[in-house]
Amino acid sequence: MTHAIEVRNVYREFQQRSGAGARRPVRAVDGVTFSLPSGDVLGVVGESGCGKSTLARLIMGLLPPTSGEVLVDGRSLAGMDRRERARLIQPVFQDPFSSLNPRQRIREIVGLPLAAQGDLPKARQADRVMEMLARVGISSEMAERMPGQLSGGQRQRVAIARALVLHPRIVVCDEPTSALDVSVQAQILNLLAELRRELGLTYLFISHNLAVVEHIATEVAVMYLGRIVEQAPVHELFRTPTHPYTQALLASVLTPDPALGIPDVGLGDTYPDPTNIPPGCRFHPRCPSAFAECAATMPDNIRKDGRLVECLLAVQP
Ligand code: SF4
Repeated sequence: MTHAIEVRNVYREFQQRSGAGARRPVRAVDGVTFSLPSGDVLGVVGESGCGKSTLARLIMGLLPPTSGEVLVDGRSLAGMDRRERARLIQPVFQDPFSSLNPRQRIREIVGLPLAAQGDLPKARQADRVMEMLARVGISSEMAERMPGQLSGGQRQRVAIARALVLHPRIVVCDEPTSALDVSVQAQILNLLAELRRELGLTYLFISHNLAVVEHIATEVAVMYLGRIVEQAPVHELFRTPTHPYTQALLASVLTPDPALGIPDVGLGDTYPDPTNIPPGCRFHPRCPSAFAECAATMPDNIRKDGRLVECLLAVQP
């Protein structure tokens, strides 16, 4: 079967300047492998700095991997030019305030990808823009306005129309609702779910918000310091989280600290540092279930019954 996305043992390293001018490597993505069937939604969750946005940029072809390969629709991204990539895969970013050019009309913004491809006559391009705007709930009157004259939710609808106007197969959504009010978040999520069903889209959906991921994903990958430590179908993962990190993330949603207004992650103060990845299991300094071997032995990926877990406590099938 050809998958919509296939990520094969992908690494991405950056060089970070330290105080004395020396550089040290940061492995933002550290050996990630997964494949996503067409029409599915893979939710990628984890704390900030876990590598999920770097993974999104690798899959969009905005960054090359240091090693490994990304295939879209069975073809390597490395062999595609920008226009080809744009026809297959499109992004929707977090911030609709900065992702739209404030000096262009809405219809011009949505028409830009079609103009860049240049393979439709102008009149047909204009029709396609208006069709797509209507589909996301933006009227022809609003199409004449500038981004500053729209609400946050309307701007995100415009960003979605721009992403879909080329009829891509895959949409990479990087925190698409986190800059919006809670009531508007639900509308945008419902719109994305509806468009996926109607147009047969595949989504890679990056979020730190587990409730949002539970609502839209078919499969969830949990990232920690550049690696996927657990991956499973959405209901399995939420019903029986197996990796201690997934368990802590889910517990943090269930036990919010009302005094602070933020979830209690229950993992202590040791925030993960991608410039200093611990030996053995990278989660061991924070893991409530850690035992002596965890500091020395890196766990294998255990795959069983459609679930992947990277923990020494997971039993080999
Ligand atoms: Fe925790 Fe050890 Fe499992 Fe790592 S291998 S998640 S430290 S129990």
